[in-house]
Amino acid sequence: MDFIYRYDPFQPVQRLPIADGAAAAEALRAGNDRFAEFVRRMQQHTLGNDNGEPMIIPVCPVSLGLPLVAGFATNQSPFALVLGCSDARVPTETIFDQSFNDLFVVRIAGNVLGTECLGSINYAVRNLAESLQLVVVLGHSGCGAVSAAVDAYLSPHDFVDIAFTHTLRSLIDRIQIAVRGSAKALTNVGGPSVVQSPGYRDCLVEVAVYLNAAITAFDLQREIRSQGNATLPIVFGAYDLASQRVRPMPDARGRPPCFESGFAEAPQSADDFVKLGVRLAERLLETGDVGSSLNW
Ligand SMILES: [Zn+2]
Repeated sequence: MDFIYRYDPFQPVQRLPIADGAAAAEALRAGNDRFAEFVRRMQQHTLGNDNGEPMIIPVCPVSLGLPLVAGFATNQSPFALVLGCSDARVPTETIFDQSFNDLFVVRIAGNVLGTECLGSINYAVRNLAESLQLVVVLGHSGCGAVSAAVDAYLSPHDFVDIAFTHTLRSLIDRIQIAVRGSAKALTNVGGPSVVQSPGYRDCLVEVAVYLNAAITAFDLQREIRSQGNATLPIVFGAYDLASQRVRPMPDARGRPPCFESGFAEAPQSADDFVKLGVRLAERLLETGDVGSSLNW
């Protein structure tokens, strides 16, 4: 089967303006759908279940965010800012099927909010306000940084190397509040015996991935609002390595994902954070079997 990028100068592809946060979230959702479909078609073809129809993607320099003619450079005008994890399996532009000049991306292990990351984000919010319509904090399933924070929480004595390595510890420490909140939520919903369940550690990682993204979005929102920007939407979500999709999750108040994009609004308070942890724990534990309920 063929995947074809086709450029026809007589049929230019429009680069549609992204007017607001909802349109930005929709562009990311649609791009993630295209990417997931691309992967699904290849997987089906591997099994001989695909009809072999080519996927043709019309492009032109402008739609790709590139100069139309040689010798010029485009102005920077991303429609969304994404704070994501450094994990090699989650390349931001690729999973959202976006191109040059679409996204302002900050990636750091565990998508935590360190000083330099915040400086980059503040730069974008201040200087790219004309085009920037949405801020996304994106965690992902099976995150190594979150897993390390969970393991350090569950077995602190086994993590002496991390404890005595300042840089690694600072990373893990930033995720601990999400891990502790997740552990408390799982215990509140599943009872004290939940910690004995075979799948407890994996559940803790999965809840913490989401709560870590939520609390980063919460901190980021507070920072951006304190800079005088009262309207820029700040959302969070988690990318699923197995399905290649951003998970559709409710926010802390039980509303459907905002913008119908799979993203949830940043928590507004510590109470929201606690409610979100409980909702996630309820989803994971609703089958009554921690070890077999990871498909959320
Ligand atoms: Zn990660």
